Amino acid sequence: MLRKLLIVVLIVVVVLAVVIVTRTLLFIPPVLTAQKPQSFLIDEASIVRHMSEAITFPTISFGNAENTTREPFENFIAWLAETYPLVYSRLSTQRIGQYSLLYQWQGTGVGGKPILLTAHYDVVPVPQSSRDQWQHPPFAGEIKEGAVWGRGALDDKSAVVAIMEALTLLLESGYEPQRDIYVAFGHDEEVGGSEGAASIASELKARGVQIEWSLDEGSFVLDGIIPGLASPLAGINLSEKGFLTLQITAKSDGGHSSMPPHDMAIYTLAETLNDLQNFSFDNHLSSGPSAEMYLEIARHMPFTKRMLFANQWLFRPLLENALTASPVGAAMLRTTIAPTMLQAGIKENVLAPVARATVNLRIHPQDDIDDVITRLKQIIVRDGVSVDILNATPASPISSSNSAGFAALAEVSRRIFGDVVVAPGLTIAGTDSKHYQTVSQDAYRFNPMMIDSEDLATFHGVNERISIDNLTKATSFYAALIMESSQ
Ligand SMILES: [Zn+2]
Repeated sequence: MLRKLLIVVLIVVVVLAVVIVTRTLLFIPPVLTAQKPQSFLIDEASIVRHMSEAITFPTISFGNAENTTREPFENFIAWLAETYPLVYSRLSTQRIGQYSLLYQWQGTGVGGKPILLTAHYDVVPVPQSSRDQWQHPPFAGEIKEGAVWGRGALDDKSAVVAIMEALTLLLESGYEPQRDIYVAFGHDEEVGGSEGAASIASELKARGVQIEWSLDEGSFVLDGIIPGLASPLAGINLSEKGFLTLQITAKSDGGHSSMPPHDMAIYTLAETLNDLQNFSFDNHLSSGPSAEMYLEIARHMPFTKRMLFANQWLFRPLLENALTASPVGAAMLRTTIAPTMLQAGIKENVLAPVARATVNLRIHPQDDIDDVITRLKQIIVRDGVSVDILNATPASPISSSNSAGFAALAEVSRRIFGDVVVAPGLTIAGTDSKHYQTVSQDAYRFNPMMIDSEDLATFHGVNERISIDNLTKATSFYAALIMESSQ
């Protein structure tokens, strides 16, 4: 009897092993055909000089609009016109929402719906306390160690410069696009884009323009950042997370702290926050942009990792645990919850009758924002506690990874950056694309520049810089992309 049972167990184990190994061996990337090489006659010195000049304008967006000095924005706009005269003479140009810009390059009319290339030229401030950590001053645009240094070098003036250089390159060569090419530069992305990108989107809508796809900042060509992936990853993000802010208010009787009752507003609020800490929204590893990303990346990974992804029917709980162990991994897979502000009490010996917490959630595109709110109201149930919604922006729609636009982005990425893995992805922070997406069938989020983990730390931080190699590659990328998608 025991012997029979052992044989049965053995057979089951062998069958399982065969299924797991077969699925793993079949879980490999498709063979891609050789890519057309692309070379442009790039004037490296002039691109580098322009990037350096662009950084010297302190086009800083502060949270409070009154703090923002408008002069650098005017000067930057004047500098664009002086620096790229061919673009200004051949494309129609319009100022929108005070300091944002919209350019239209009219096509010959046979190429289908227009495309839109976008970037923003405002930057985040450099805190006084971090100035001495900069190896080269943040607004000097110094060219040192093979890079141009300063605030905005990666986020996102390099895209503005590279797009303008690419347009100039194509205009000089006599190239004519078949479809219309729109270019938009926002001036307030770092504070939500409600004046810039939102007004540009309204203008396009008013003109009746329907964009086939748009390209804005997003992921990069990530070199050595994804554990287990030998090649760099060109992440073309399909969507961005939504934004939900709640205020949780707990109330109780006030009084003297010498006679504290058992229930107090501060305790109730703390318990409520604890309830939230112990709760997680569902992970989205079976469908949607995060799932698409992991499936594509995993095909290029070593056998054991491939085995886990190829056999999610068996290993999904294990995978979800591993992937959500880091904050960025968890942010990729689900809606996140973060208390960000607390407020209670006025004096050390007075019981606070009211305690408030501000809680910020980032909504995964696979989650409906109304369902998220309903779910939260099922968790925040303690007596004396109420919830107010301060701000609710749903996640953006999910763009297609099977469109001609995505294919063009993937093809040109491989052409310019060589042996890279191209995969769809998700932007976990907010960008101007949420506005552009209202007039665009698909909105993609990708910067054609290769960065490593050291570069990643410089975003909104210190020592932001862009390599000269990245500047020339980004210029070639945008020029090749316009040709690829509009021939
Ligand atoms: Zn940015």
